[in-house]
Amino acid sequence: MESLEDEDRKIDYLKGGVEMILVLMGPPGCGKGTQAKKLEAKLGIPQLSTGDMLRIAVKNGTEVGRKAKKYMEEGQLVPDEIIIDVMRERLVQKDCNKGFILDGFPRTVPQGEALNKLLDEVGKKITDVINIDVADQEVIERISGRRQCVKCGATYHIVFSPSKGDHCDKCDGDVVQRGDDKEETVKERLSVYRKQTAPLIFFYRELGLLKEIEGIGDIEEIFSRICSLIKKDECCGKAS
Ligand SMILES: [Zn+2]
Repeated sequence: MESLEDEDRKIDYLKGGVEMILVLMGPPGCGKGTQAKKLEAKLGIPQLSTGDMLRIAVKNGTEVGRKAKKYMEEGQLVPDEIIIDVMRERLVQKDCNKGFILDGFPRTVPQGEALNKLLDEVGKKITDVINIDVADQEVIERISGRRQCVKCGATYHIVFSPSKGDHCDKCDGDVVQRGDDKEETVKERLSVYRKQTAPLIFFYRELGLLKEIEGIGDIEEIFSRICSLIKKDECCGKAS
């Protein structure tokens, strides 16, 4: 077993030289957003979310931003080409020169192909695709157990962090389940996710980029699993 210091030193080494482009995948509720934030802090490379990128492009009034705005105002999905154009603007910015982390994109094979084409254009390459997998039943338990205070937004979980009584511990407001978190909705989201991403997982596996980890355990455990995966290949030479 290597000590945590070893791990830190190796990741510092990454910070110095190697460009890292990480793609995080996983079902809703697998914690990939949280892990992306931790990786951002540890590796010193930005986490790029398509939602944020679109909002910034719209705010800056760039040409693609104006195109995206039309769709967003009409409550429609922004087409892949526009998302790719927004990414093209974003990933040539200075803070991306050591790499970046994508979470929640790509979701489909066409998006994965478009992303590869874009990276080719700008002379970059995905380093690793990390799939954090969690079984459907576990996702349903995690998400359908979430509760939120309607008054102050405090969050609870009926199993992992319940409120003391029927009301919010902080402001005594009503604690409810959001529509998105209802079991039926979660099942629907999961089935869409599995249908869209199963081919994408295959796509990245064929390219030799896929790393799979179990999304079971606490945040720190999962984070150290991710770190040991990206460390092994990038710093000690490819094993296979
Ligand atoms: Zn409250």
